[in-house]
Amino acid sequence: LIQARGLRKSFGSTDALRGIDLGIQQGEVVAVMGPSGSGKSTLLHCLAGVVLPDSGTVSVGGTVVTALSEAHRSKLRLTQFGFVFQFGQLLPDLTAVDNITIPLLLAGMKRRQALTAAHGWLDRLGLAAAADQLPGELSGGEAQRVAIARALVTRPSVLFADEPTGSLDSLAAENVLVAMLELVRGSGTTLVMITHDPRTAAYADREIIVRDGQLAATDRVGIA
Ligand code: ATP
Ligand code: MG
Repeated sequence: LIQARGLRKSFGSTDALRGIDLGIQQGEVVAVMGPSGSGKSTLLHCLAGVVLPDSGTVSVGGTVVTALSEAHRSKLRLTQFGFVFQFGQLLPDLTAVDNITIPLLLAGMKRRQALTAAHGWLDRLGLAAAADQLPGELSGGEAQRVAIARALVTRPSVLFADEPTGSLDSLAAENVLVAMLELVRGSGTTLVMITHDPRTAAYADREIIVRDGQLAATDRVGIA
């Protein structure tokens, strides 16, 4: 589904990516590991068309993302990709259910229909009771599950997650991870997930390690 060829990206004198070749199958769950500053987030941003590499290409589902204008990449991100980050992704003044409706409203869906869909995702994540709470009234784990619902509500082909459980204690992290994996595996969504935690990575079909802007190893862990 995703093909990256010869990705290079520098920020000033920092070479964040130094020639990355990577292929990811549809439905695959890939954990991206590696030291701080090794280029993991930059790689994810390049795959998702958030950042353009200085050289190299990324294609997703046959679309050459790196050849698209920012407007087209933006549309692709909105319609085909979902994103989950470590912190602060929910709009603090909107309730949980309203946060989840945002991508649907941006895509032109009527509010009533968007609310129905959002409540469905909250149910699936065991959060029905939290629908009308503000992000500040949710636990960290609940907030991350709401963020995951918002990322999946448009049924993206790829979910990009940058340390989605990095801000949680280990029990909450495991619950959020299990919920996210159940949803992506159940829907055939491809997941590219950055993590520092080897136990989190063990849930993936494949683990890749970024070191100094290059892939250091490609191992299979767990059961594909
Ligand atoms: P961490 O595990 O700490 O999140 P990472 O592996 O995600 O690290 P990146 O964020 O990809 O690392 O950064 C790789 C290198 O590129 C680092 O040296 C970082 O300082 C640099 N870098 C990343 N983004 C930018 C930017 N927008 N401007 C300048 N330098 C950047
Ligand atoms: Mg990072």
